[in-house]
Amino acid sequence: MRVYSIPMRTRFRGVTRREGVLVHGPAGWGEFSPFAEYGPAECARWLAAAREAAEDGWPAPVRTRIPVNATIPAVGPEEAHAMAAASGCRTAKVKVAERGQDEADDIARVEAVRDALGPSGRVRVDANGAWDPGTAARVIRALDRFDLEYVEQPCATLEELARVRRLVDVPIAADESIRRAEDPLRVRAAEAADIAVIKVQPLGGVRAALRVAEACGLPVVVSSAVETSVGLAAGAALAAALPELPFACGLGTLPLLEDDVVADPLRPVDGAIPVRRPEPDQDALRRVHPGEETARRWRARMERAAAVLDAAGGTAWPIGAVGR
Ligand SMILES: [Mg+2]
Repeated sequence: MRVYSIPMRTRFRGVTRREGVLVHGPAGWGEFSPFAEYGPAECARWLAAAREAAEDGWPAPVRTRIPVNATIPAVGPEEAHAMAAASGCRTAKVKVAERGQDEADDIARVEAVRDALGPSGRVRVDANGAWDPGTAARVIRALDRFDLEYVEQPCATLEELARVRRLVDVPIAADESIRRAEDPLRVRAAEAADIAVIKVQPLGGVRAALRVAEACGLPVVVSSAVETSVGLAAGAALAAALPELPFACGLGTLPLLEDDVVADPLRPVDGAIPVRRPEPDQDALRRVHPGEETARRWRARMERAAAVLDAAGGTAWPIGAVGR
């Protein structure tokens, strides 16, 4: 196993470095990179995803490239226009409802991105749960002048999402509301969303995520947890195995990291990433290797997750077997 620590280009979820562990097994490399606030029970699912990648591999792909969206942060309209135009993507996700900004900032940013992509581009927005239902309905209607594909997590709770969904015509996508395998079913039962944003690691692997997608019956958008190319390859494998892929995926996140663990990163080219599994590269692993204290902390974190997973009968695959 190899521990990595990579600076982020912009702060994300309050973190400035992305850290995790790469594990190796007969099927290849897997990534274990739960966010810092998650305890062992949560981390066990992330570990199951890493083990699946290393031990079993993934189901056969039905497509070879995955369209991805550009991500436009809460920047001014000129910068947003330039980023969307330079991305090569036909779909852009625009961050809205940023703290310290107002509705006029959101409108100007979305207008600029629509202008950059032209009428055939797709523009979705992500509020990360920041609006109350009344504000959400008002601002979504204002933004829909620029023809929104969907709105991601306009409000925090399922009840609020369900209310907004009844108030506006724009489809609603649930992201933060889906953090574990049973959540998509809850989203569906609450009639809280039209689309489910799903991620491989929190759901416990590609096969588990496929089962979740099938069980919830909503169209899904596969997104990353801002992983290295090793973790992104699992997201690409999930997107490649889905019977239908109606939306661009949130897997074009590698540019958020300053470095990577492979020599041939899964960067978006012409608005898509290829379905392949890049291997960690020795030079890259040396560059991103953290200090011994960080490495020890991650090994301990993985052992605690393994204890939970093994107690749950997750898999008999021993952590020690992947050490190298
Ligand atoms: Mg989101």
